[in-house]
Amino acid sequence: MIPQESAGWELPDWQRQQADLITDPAELLALLELDAAELPGSLAAAQDFPLRVPRRYVDLIEKGNPRDPLLRQVLSVSAELEVAPGYGPDPLEEGDHTPVPGLLHKYQGRALLVVTGACAVHCRYCFRRHFPYQSHLSGKRWEQALAWLAARPDINEVILSGGDPLTLTNRRIQQLLDALAEIPHLRRLRIHSRTPVVIPERLDEELLALLSAPRWRTVLVLHANHPREVSDSLVDRGRQWQRAGITLLNQSVLLAGVNDQLETLVALSDRLHEAGVLPYYLHQLDRVAGAAHFAVQDEDALALHKALRASLPGFLVPRLSREVPGEPAKTVLAG
Ligand code: SF4
Repeated sequence: MIPQESAGWELPDWQRQQADLITDPAELLALLELDAAELPGSLAAAQDFPLRVPRRYVDLIEKGNPRDPLLRQVLSVSAELEVAPGYGPDPLEEGDHTPVPGLLHKYQGRALLVVTGACAVHCRYCFRRHFPYQSHLSGKRWEQALAWLAARPDINEVILSGGDPLTLTNRRIQQLLDALAEIPHLRRLRIHSRTPVVIPERLDEELLALLSAPRWRTVLVLHANHPREVSDSLVDRGRQWQRAGITLLNQSVLLAGVNDQLETLVALSDRLHEAGVLPYYLHQLDRVAGAAHFAVQDEDALALHKALRASLPGFLVPRLSREVPGEPAKTVLAG
């Protein structure tokens, strides 16, 4: 069978969307009928970490509202240029957990593959916004990473990360899975991705067939932060994937001005459940340079989580947590 992506004139919808992202702050502001007074700061911040937004995600943003919570996640702003104490380029000290290029080993039994530096969207709070992808994605990284995994029988779960692994074509993912399938002690496959949130069409039939193969127990962890990001299209596809046996979880980041209100988090959990996705973690922000304006104080986060527990059944309450460099697991602030 000819892979879909080989037939250039038949590029899947998700790939066409990914090839036609908005990258110019001026275009984004114009489409949303917003005042261009913010433009100089936006352009300056985008130089460091470029703006990237799929057009259909922009359709979910309220026109004329500069404080829209979805817009806040994607529009570069001058606040990113301010220096904040305690915020740095590698907040999780990932550079200390790289036994071979392209592979991170932080937690027992699991290893994370950095499979690409590309993303379908650039999230302004991203903890990897300064990540040195070039040093992880060059040379013979696959050979080295696969050899490292093959020599470690204590690793039973491989996590595909990035960048965003679902920006890769199905053909590339298949090649990767074929190579990983040769390592007998790998049993669980976990994929972390925000692409289906901004381009739900990425959850296509071909990918579902790959990930629901009997060789793997597959967990797909989505990264949605606001109920409006869980579109009808994502709900339909989530249900389909759940029926096919894929475990669907969600990780959010608690972000000031985006989802730091009780009603927003309640609506997010409810909407995720509609899509067959269980809320898993609600992360405190990783202190990455350029993102301090998204921080929520711990005492406010704990109060919010307490109110969330009082509002929802336990299975819809994500664990409030923080990643602390050097710790053997995530630090749960409230479960
Ligand atoms: S999609 Fe994920 S890795 Fe990419 S910019 Fe957003 S948060 Fe960062």
